[in-house]
Amino acid sequence: MILFLDYDGTLVPIVNSPQEAIIDKNKKKILISLSQKHKIVIITGRDIKSFRKVFGKIPNSIFVISSHGSKIFRNETLVKIISYYSMPDVTYLKKKIKNMKGVILEEKEGCIALHYRNYTGDEYLLKRIFEEFTKLYPPQKVIEGKKVIEAFYIDSDKGKAVESFLRFVAWEGKDPILYIGDDKTDLYAIKKVKQLGGRTFFVGDKKPPEADCLFRSVEEVYRFLLSFK
Ligand SMILES: [Mg+2]
Repeated sequence: MILFLDYDGTLVPIVNSPQEAIIDKNKKKILISLSQKHKIVIITGRDIKSFRKVFGKIPNSIFVISSHGSKIFRNETLVKIISYYSMPDVTYLKKKIKNMKGVILEEKEGCIALHYRNYTGDEYLLKRIFEEFTKLYPPQKVIEGKKVIEAFYIDSDKGKAVESFLRFVAWEGKDPILYIGDDKTDLYAIKKVKQLGGRTFFVGDKKPPEADCLFRSVEEVYRFLLSFK
């Protein structure tokens, strides 16, 4: 079986700060032991560095698809690039926000995030500056979150990542596939896996129509995973 698993909110509970989402030792052991029998593929929005910080050493038997589905890693080695992207020049944006106290510009792989949780100034003005910037360097999409705006310069999603991975391992449709995720970005993959005849699971309070089943917690996910040992 090929098990595609999201990380944050699926294999670890959601915590306040992304750096604190460290996997429990025993739970990591469950994944490693499962990976002796099945293909375990962790799909995360994180880049590999940030993933490595919370997951620790990535064993040989586990695949990781990082950066919103753009790269496939095995044994910490990049084995395939799914999609390329070019990042904008942020000099203009940096200059504009230089004196705005509490605004943080984060440059990630394929994505730029403007955090303003600690900013007490004019949010409207800040958003206008960001808009001007994205007019200069049009991204694939802009997503506004809680006190953060992100511009994505990468043209990939978890659905495309699943497809690329299956091509990468020359999947012929015999090995059953399964997807577990907890967020909007997982729905792309859930749709894809369903289309390919796989089973799909969502972690949360309410089952989206796209998914087959619902898990109410990360604990439930592991209880289910243990049944494949
Ligand atoms: Mg998630």
